[in-house]
Amino acid sequence: MNRVLIANRGEIAARILRACRAAGLEAVAVHSTADRDAPYLSQADRAVCIGPPAAARSYLLADALLAAALGTGCDAVHPGYGFMAENAAFALRCAEHGLTFVGPSPEAIELMGDKIAGRAAAAANHVPVVPGSDASISDMGAARRQAADVGYPLLLKASAGGGGRGMRVVSSPAELEQRLAQAGAEAAAAFSDSRIYMERYFPRVHHVEVQVFGDRHGNHVHLGERDCSAQRRHQKLVEESPSPVLAPALRREICEAAVRLARGVGYENAGTVEFIYDPAEARCYFIEMNTRIQVEHPVTEMVTGTDLVLEQLRVAAGEPLSFTSQSIVHRGHAIEWRINAEDPDRGFLPTPGRLTRWSPPRETPAVRVDTFVHAGQTVTPYYDSMLAKLIVKGDSRTEALERSAAALDAFVVEGVSTTIGFQRAMIEHRDFIEGRVHTRWIEECGDR
Ligand code: ADP
Ligand code: ADP
Ligand code: MG
Repeated sequence: MNRVLIANRGEIAARILRACRAAGLEAVAVHSTADRDAPYLSQADRAVCIGPPAAARSYLLADALLAAALGTGCDAVHPGYGFMAENAAFALRCAEHGLTFVGPSPEAIELMGDKIAGRAAAAANHVPVVPGSDASISDMGAARRQAADVGYPLLLKASAGGGGRGMRVVSSPAELEQRLAQAGAEAAAAFSDSRIYMERYFPRVHHVEVQVFGDRHGNHVHLGERDCSAQRRHQKLVEESPSPVLAPALRREICEAAVRLARGVGYENAGTVEFIYDPAEARCYFIEMNTRIQVEHPVTEMVTGTDLVLEQLRVAAGEPLSFTSQSIVHRGHAIEWRINAEDPDRGFLPTPGRLTRWSPPRETPAVRVDTFVHAGQTVTPYYDSMLAKLIVKGDSRTEALERSAAALDAFVVEGVSTTIGFQRAMIEHRDFIEGRVHTRWIEECGDR
């Protein structure tokens, strides 16, 4: 492996570029016309324009990405997260063109990209799966029968779903038909796949997930868990490691379960096994596996002292993993704050506009800022609203929170509204301090 095409944009493109440098690899960046001034482009060995702003005509266009890779002599493609990261057909086409796809096999992507199949694989590997249906819903008769089994409230989910889309809570039988139609239509539009299945809906859960890694030599390891319970619209806003709520025995159980699943499906490269944690019964249930590097991977890096994107490149090149689950030392507590151009007072609506001021806190061993923006830049409405990730570490959670408060205070952004003020207020909230933030907490805060 010599030269990597970075098939993504934004902070993750800049992050992958850094890892390529650390690995001694050349890197080719791509960009849409909307991103032509992105600062990381000038740090890449080459930058290729792949199309107009709309992602469907640039970052989601396999032909354009492959042409950019082949035209610049790349021998590998890193998809980042989102966009092409969980596209099995794209991974397959890379392989057909002799390009190393930095990620798992097309078969693993396809298996886990289908949540119904992922549930079955988890169950087959003795991973506790959230109670629900084992097949997609064929008609209203089947829907009513399955719903009677699962019980209310229930959650309709798109089997091909991702990014929090295609999900609907159903609180009573009277709502079932309408919600099913809505979920099916949303899934068809977003994923060209209208298959829906159902899960028991837990209104008060935490989201915990386990970072796993596999290599070509049959090694499968975990790097502990992350807690990503602070969400709006089923989308994460703050993540931390370790989880403030899991008991050590349960933590061990889900980490081992996640490794069992990775090994069971012959998983290669980085992946994340997601669970919900029900504090009422102190139990965890598998919900899905993401076959890519995750947005919040830096909290794991901060507490384990690893470079997960560099590890992805090594493993893709055929090297064995540089660590085992036992050799990893977990030290301290890390919290990631997603700094988004959104207005918390208006339901976290994206707020595109010009950044008249952009002044992140100074980076130290305890404060990391992953970003791609600068003062004067215009935040366009074409892509997701994340401007930066602020990752803060402490010896204890208390220290990580204190340092987070100082770092958020020092983070000055003007021109667009951001999540910074909301996140700063979260730190003072008893529920957050005491680890009582569940996945609907932010939305319920808005209702109060
Ligand atoms: P993570 O699970 O890494 O925290 P998110 O759920 O925030 O990541 O998703 C990361 C990015 O990828 C977001 O921009 C999200 O909208 C997008 N995304 C995730 N899954 C899919 C998918 N299946 N299809 C399209 N976009 C997705
Ligand atoms: P996506 O592919 O969109 O990330 P997930 O299956 O990971 O979908 O679910 C997204 C979020 O929705 C979870 O992080 C969690 O907050 C919530 N969620 C998922 N399944 C359930 C469930 N059965 N009960 C309660 N909340 C759930
Ligand atoms: Mg998920």
